[in-house]
Amino acid sequence: MTETLGFIGLGIMGRPMALNLRRAGHPLVVHARRPESMRPLADAGATTCASPAEVARQADIVFTMVSDTPDVEAVILGERGVIEGVRPGSVVVDMSTISAAATRHLAECLRAQDVEMLDAPVSGGEVGAVEGTLSIMVGGALEAFRRVLPLFECMGKNIVHIGANGAGQVCKSCNQVVVGTTIAGVAEAMLLAEASGVDAARVRDALLGGFANSRVLDVHGHRMLQGDFQPGFKARLHQKDMRIVAEAARELGLCLPSSAMISQYLDALVSQGDGELDSAAIYQVLKGLSAHGDGQASS
Ligand code: NAP
Repeated sequence: MTETLGFIGLGIMGRPMALNLRRAGHPLVVHARRPESMRPLADAGATTCASPAEVARQADIVFTMVSDTPDVEAVILGERGVIEGVRPGSVVVDMSTISAAATRHLAECLRAQDVEMLDAPVSGGEVGAVEGTLSIMVGGALEAFRRVLPLFECMGKNIVHIGANGAGQVCKSCNQVVVGTTIAGVAEAMLLAEASGVDAARVRDALLGGFANSRVLDVHGHRMLQGDFQPGFKARLHQKDMRIVAEAARELGLCLPSSAMISQYLDALVSQGDGELDSAAIYQVLKGLSAHGDGQASS
């Protein structure tokens, strides 16, 4: 039996992900705060709804892809939220990047209505969302994961069931620690090369063939060399992710100094009014902290 799908949140990531579900032939009902965000989906044959509750009333599986923890809470538990319309036996799949602790609470609230929840945050950016090649990190019951897996396969390539509710979000936090610290490492390497009077592009070429190779060196390193910080992934969203890491570290009594440092770089970027730039712009913050910010040593 073909299940009806719901999708709530149609921004940079949600819109192409929902389109990929629709293109795979699934009946789709959608909701976004701004009606214009729903137009491309309506053009592709999706039914538009005035509220998350209305989506949930019609859908067997409801996906959410909004910004931050309070947004997912509002969409699921708020007035005219998913919880008001959702039917027993449905699955709610949150693909936003939010707090693992809040995710566990949401899962409990939904389970009280006989509804399973999966947390399924993603990595791979807008390109991965458009091309359907996202990495998807899933937390929640294995049975629900198996039911949703064919739908994840419409949106992603590397799909891993990590563990119970919240485990997908923990995995995403780990992802952001590695990505953030690697961006800072690549930025430092590029600055060192430039300040030494060496061609940083050639340094990057050489590093791409050795142990220092990474997707961040490739993609973000290129952005730094070009001075092109169009997102990509907005610094303010990366700041939000590092805040989630810091909150988890505090709760767990963990010392994660590298993550704290990345938070500070992102805080600096956002407070300078550059929150809409790609987080590779950490390079600019580091450059500003160095002698004159132009690679010239002071006398
Ligand atoms: P985005 O373009 O800002 O889209 C977020 C969407 O959520 C917007 O359409 C927004 O509606 C909607 N929204 C936010 N709060 C809402 C609320 N309370 N009620 C209803 N709708 C709400 O962001 P994005 O880049 O798609 O990111 C979405 C999530 O994916 C975030 O958690 C982000 O961290 C994560 N993510 C992003 C990337 C990336 O490369 N962009 C990669 C991996 C993961 P309005 O348009 O009306 O504001």
